[in-house]
Amino acid sequence: MTYPFPTSAFIGGAWFESARTFPVVNPASGVLIAEVSDLGGDETEAAIRAAEAAFPAWSGHLAKERAAIVRRWGDLLIKHAEDLAQLITAEGGKPLAEARGEVAYAASFCEWFSEEAKRAYGRTIPTTVAHRRYVTIKQPIGVAAAITPWNFPLGMVTRKAAPALAAGCTLVLKPAEATPLTALFAAKLAAEAGLPPGVLNVVTSNNAAVVGKVLCESTIVRKLSFTGSTRVGKILAAQCAGTVKRLSLELGGNAPFIVFEDADLDKAAAAIVSGKFRNAGQVCVATNRVLVHAKAHDALAQKLAIGVSALKVGDGAEEGVQVGPLIQKAAVERVDRLVKAALASGAKALTGAAPSPVGEQFYAPTVLSGVTPEMDIAQQEIFGPVATLIPFGSDDEAVRIANATPYGLAAYFFTNDISRAWRVAEKLDYGMVSVNEGVMSNEVTPFGGMKESGVGREGGAEGLDEFLEVKFINFGGIG
Ligand code: ADP
Repeated sequence: MTYPFPTSAFIGGAWFESARTFPVVNPASGVLIAEVSDLGGDETEAAIRAAEAAFPAWSGHLAKERAAIVRRWGDLLIKHAEDLAQLITAEGGKPLAEARGEVAYAASFCEWFSEEAKRAYGRTIPTTVAHRRYVTIKQPIGVAAAITPWNFPLGMVTRKAAPALAAGCTLVLKPAEATPLTALFAAKLAAEAGLPPGVLNVVTSNNAAVVGKVLCESTIVRKLSFTGSTRVGKILAAQCAGTVKRLSLELGGNAPFIVFEDADLDKAAAAIVSGKFRNAGQVCVATNRVLVHAKAHDALAQKLAIGVSALKVGDGAEEGVQVGPLIQKAAVERVDRLVKAALASGAKALTGAAPSPVGEQFYAPTVLSGVTPEMDIAQQEIFGPVATLIPFGSDDEAVRIANATPYGLAAYFFTNDISRAWRVAEKLDYGMVSVNEGVMSNEVTPFGGMKESGVGREGGAEGLDEFLEVKFINFGGIG
């Protein structure tokens, strides 16, 4: 297969080919689609130095000059949307329609942060001493590092890189080993947009632990932005402690989707099907537990079983496919273990509940009823195409079950009672709450979690602040 970019790392504006490579495989077919340069610690250090060398000039540009380049990058992503979408599907497995949506989502961060960069305002603060004047200014934090996951191989890159670059930081990016190609294509387009050498560096590697440790322990890198599992997020936070690095962590979730007895059940069921089964359930904000009022339980269960069993499973590259493969064979086995354990403890399969005959890495879209909050499948992030139904009897019980998890990323609920909507939204310990809608993420609002789902926010005005330092300047001797 040939690509419009080299399958090697990108350091200091040049393509860097290493002797060692690692394979990238299409998860739908198992076919090898590329061999990519496999970098280690020394090359990561070189990328950090390239970012350090580029920082003075890049941060010295006017915000509007940086903004123009970041905006052009987004425009180029849109221009190459179809090729990018095909690549996202080839290496990540999601259906093409979703991959196309991801390109638009990714480009939206370039647009948004190119605009926000011009508004990195400081403050003037009324003085407390007659001869002094107080102001704050915001400045780019310095060299930043980003480690991104495979489930949104383009979206997670721009959600970090666009605010970092727009703010005036330079960046070392380590994309997930399963999906480095999309990141390399994006880097090529960034250079084409006019990004100077060294401002964005991409370290491809099959040894995330080695690269991650160098990034975390570097005294040059002043900020780490990570999206991935809570397990790895904790390792990185510990490794960053030695240099007291600024951290943004977007980690795992255990999203509740509460359906109250007064909800529009058709709309709720449709929202669960589209939100939960997107990317075969491999989304950190995907519904993990459907909490449904006992009075609405049977009707919702029936609607979900009908909707989910109609989903078309297959290679995401085929038009019309709605559920693609899981990223690895081990993921299919993990999901199946969780489902089998739930069934053994009394849950009931309404549809699915087995690997799909479509291929080795596919799992049949599944609905389980009779799940209890204590089961592993309700406690752990499933990250697969399985919806679980847990009945409840009162609003307080629903909120209690929803909050009884170390996670706090996204929560959803359906009700037509405005007073209940406010009450429940305020009581949910989640960074993002969606009322009467199953998908909510966009570039203008803050995305992020509470508790062990992470720290910091991406998108919105908050997303730019993650890459800025606030400096207080005191002017004395006035008057
Ligand atoms: P997921 O469950 O989404 O695969 P991971 O946390 O395993 O989540 O992976 C997310 C990103 O973190 C990927 O880029 C992966 O290579 C990277 N990663 C995994 N382990 C480590 C580690 N020990 N140090 C640094 N990065 C890591």
